[in-house]
Amino acid sequence: MEYIVKTENLVFEYKIQVQTEGEEATTETEAALNGVDIAVKKGEFVAVLGHNGSGKSTLAKHINCLLSPTAGTMWVKGISVADEERIWDIRSSVGMVFQNPDNQIIATIVEEDVAFGAENLGVPPAEIRKRVDEALASVGMAQYAENPPHFLSGGQKQRVAIAGILAMRPDIIVLDEPTAMLDPIGRREVMNVVKKLNREEGITIIFITHFMDEAAQAERIIVMEEGKIAMEGTPGEVFAQIAPLKAIGLDVPQVAEIAAGLREAGINLPQGLLTVDALVEEICRLR
Ligand code: ADP
Ligand code: MG
Repeated sequence: MEYIVKTENLVFEYKIQVQTEGEEATTETEAALNGVDIAVKKGEFVAVLGHNGSGKSTLAKHINCLLSPTAGTMWVKGISVADEERIWDIRSSVGMVFQNPDNQIIATIVEEDVAFGAENLGVPPAEIRKRVDEALASVGMAQYAENPPHFLSGGQKQRVAIAGILAMRPDIIVLDEPTAMLDPIGRREVMNVVKKLNREEGITIIFITHFMDEAAQAERIIVMEEGKIAMEGTPGEVFAQIAPLKAIGLDVPQVAEIAAGLREAGINLPQGLLTVDALVEEICRLR
């Protein structure tokens, strides 16, 4: 099996300088990843859940070598992140989307912003023109190509940020809570674009979120807790574990909880119901 992202016993410690008055500065370490083993297949759509401080962003930053492991091993596209000569190969294959859309937009015109990353990769101008047009079309933002990004909604800005990454032709896109600052419409726009890129262009997606309904749309969910993998499986499998999820401070999608309650009351419903439509269909079937 070919994995596009794989880790073995990945450990990461932040070094923090502590200065107390009258004493010399000392360095303390804060373990953010405590032995993470994950394996993501090419073309997979994986959601990562976990409450604040569980290590999600730290893991994300390893995937494009913004951070390098304190211990353990990690491979991206089969390349070890310890292979310094090939870090550029990894960086140019992994696009990152962060939480705040305003921090990711640099240029004053949408299409210039989308071109920025590809220009830095040294892509020739004619090719950039083509890639920018394609990328803006992919995220449904072609009509805004010549607008200033300033007036766009949060969801539109995140889609522009995603277009900028697409113009770099990545194999993997890592999104770290890309919808956290968006309204429901923006969240849906971003989710739909990400799903389309995964389905139609085969881009591997690693999607960090604290929205259960978004995680429910992934192929697989990884749940992190205290720098470790606490649970892993399909959305149906993970969201069936209502008590363990609640014990680590996470919710389950409302539909999963309602279905579990009905099942407890003796109503014969299958496992893995996650959407209102699926639940309604099963309830209608009972009559
Ligand atoms: P999450 O994204 O799941 O909220 P993070 O990866 O940001 O978690 O943080 C994991 C742990 O590492 C937390 O305990 C956090 O306080 C610590 N941490 C994160 N960033 C830094 C940093 N720059 N310096 C020191 N500690 C950090
Ligand atoms: Mg985070």
